[in-house]
Amino acid sequence: MKWQGESELDRFSHGCGWHACENSFRGEMPRGWMWLLGYWAKLPEMEFWRIPANDMSCDVCLCPEHVRALDEKLKLREFREAIEQMEESERARLEEIIRREC
Ligand SMILES: [Zn+2]
Repeated sequence: MKWQGESELDRFSHGCGWHACENSFRGEMPRGWMWLLGYWAKLPEMEFWRIPANDMSCDVCLCPEHVRALDEKLKLREFREAIEQMEESERARLEEIIRREC
């Protein structure tokens, strides 16, 4: 889904949402940056456009430096490493459970 034409998108600068960080980009997000969407829902929502604006608490992007900083705080690295170390069959089973539950 394209939100706007590329030339329209290039007009907007996206700044890192981390306090006091001045990093930004224009146009398409460079690799290493991350969109960060925080919301409340009874269950994870895979179709983000369905989330009511009132239930969104965070809609920002982070630069690579602050993606790493967030990784340190949120146990994301340990979770990723645990997934990578899983056997292929375990990983497939977990993905099936996530697909069914969501
Ligand atoms: Zn930053």
